Amino acid sequence: MLALQGDFREHVATLAALDLPAFEVRTLEQLDDADGLIIPGGESTTIARLLLAFELREPLRARIASGLPVWGTCAGAILLAKRAPGLDRPTLGVLDITVERNAFGRQLDSFEADLEIAGVEGGPFRGVFIRAPAIVATGPAVEVLARLEDGSIAACRDGALLATTFHPELTNDLRLHALFAAMVEERLDEAQERRVRAEELTA
Ligand code: GLN
Repeated sequence: MLALQGDFREHVATLAALDLPAFEVRTLEQLDDADGLIIPGGESTTIARLLLAFELREPLRARIASGLPVWGTCAGAILLAKRAPGLDRPTLGVLDITVERNAFGRQLDSFEADLEIAGVEGGPFRGVFIRAPAIVATGPAVEVLARLEDGSIAACRDGALLATTFHPELTNDLRLHALFAAMVEERLDEAQERRVRAEELTA
């Protein structure tokens, strides 16, 4: 759990409810120990600044390039984006999406909406949107998982990268955290298979 700023504690509590081992990441050593990373909601400008100040931006980009599963919620989704025109600091620039910050105007600063999310069974997911960004464009490799009524994208995925513009950690619904845990598990299984195959080759 990236714990530089934002509501990382709520995510850790949600992961604990699923009996998943989670720890806070603020240093390079902690990042090295992580098998997956959640970037929480908060203030994307602040998190972007702290990623640079803690010298985590480049190492994190390198881990993502080698397949680290990362889920960005709200501000976290902004940080994953390749294009975030409303942010005056560099994002991680790893997910082929364009995000518009604070896309829902003042009186709609916060709202809730029921979402149908591809791959999440069992009925709609209550999305809590807080000064949320909108994902307004995606590259060809990005799979759209959920849209709002205005057509803007609320959830999408490209391989091991997941982005949601709302806050599942503020509900009691554990399904998206379980989905991300499955993505991490999948990645660990693949790595294990590769190790076994490499051992077989050298045996
Ligand atoms: N408006 C915030 C930003 O642009 C995001 C809000 C959130 O994470 N809930 O960083």
